[in-house]
Amino acid sequence: MVEDQLVERNIKDLGVLEVMSRLPRHLFVPDYLGHKSYGQHPLPIGHHQTISQPYAQAVMTQALRLTGNERVLEIGTGSGYQTALLAELSAHVFTIERLKPLGQRAKTLLEKLGYTNINYRFCDGTYGWQNMGPYDAILFAAGSPEMPKALVDQLAMNGRLVGPVGPEGAQQLVMLTRTEAGISKKELGDCNFVPLIGKFGHPPCGGANEQKPF
Ligand code: SAH
Repeated sequence: MVEDQLVERNIKDLGVLEVMSRLPRHLFVPDYLGHKSYGQHPLPIGHHQTISQPYAQAVMTQALRLTGNERVLEIGTGSGYQTALLAELSAHVFTIERLKPLGQRAKTLLEKLGYTNINYRFCDGTYGWQNMGPYDAILFAAGSPEMPKALVDQLAMNGRLVGPVGPEGAQQLVMLTRTEAGISKKELGDCNFVPLIGKFGHPPCGGANEQKPF
C-alpha cells in the first residue's frame, strides 16, 4: 500500500509513510472487509459512512506538517484510522464524531491499541472544541459547502487546517494556514468525501443518531 499508492503518488513525509506502513488498517474496517482494507478505495464502515482511501488520508496528514508537538483537532472520527495516524504524529488529538455508535467503536479500538493522547467527543464538530483550542492543526474529513468559520477561529498562529470544501460532486481539498499577515489558502486537488453535517456544514436530516452539540 505504501509503495504503490503513496510513494508512487508523491507522498514524501517520512513520518506519514512510516506510520502508515505499520498501522493495522484492517482492524479499522468491518471484519468482512479486512482483506480489502489496504486497497486504493474508500470502504463502508456502517451508518452510510466510509473510511477514506489511504492516499487521501496521507495527503491530508502530510499537509498538516506535524512534528510531534502539536495539539490537533479532528472532525469526523469515523473508523478512527486517521485519528491513530494523527495521534502517532502529534502530541494530542481532540476528535469529534457526530454519530455516537461510530465514534464509540473507534474509541474502544484506539484505547485497545494503547493510545492515551486522544480525547473524544460525540456531537456536531462544525462548532469545533473551543475550550481546548487553539489548535496547531485541524483536519475535517467530511465535505463542507463552505469552510466552517468556527474551525478557522480555533486555529493557532502558524496553524494549518485541511478539509474538503465545495458542493457535493465538486469538492476541493483546501488547506488554510494562519500567518501574521492573515489566512493563506491553497487548493490541494479534487476530492469526494461524505458530507459534513451540522450547523456550519450541510443541514442535518434529523435521524435517530443525531447528536445535539454540547
Ligand atoms: N477519517 C475518517 C473519515 C470518516 S468519514 C476515516 O478515515 O475513517 C467522515 C466522518 O465524519 C463520518 O464518520 C461522519 O459521521 C462524520 N461527520 C460528518 N459530519 C460531522 C460533524 N458535523 N461532526 C462530527 N463528525 C461528522
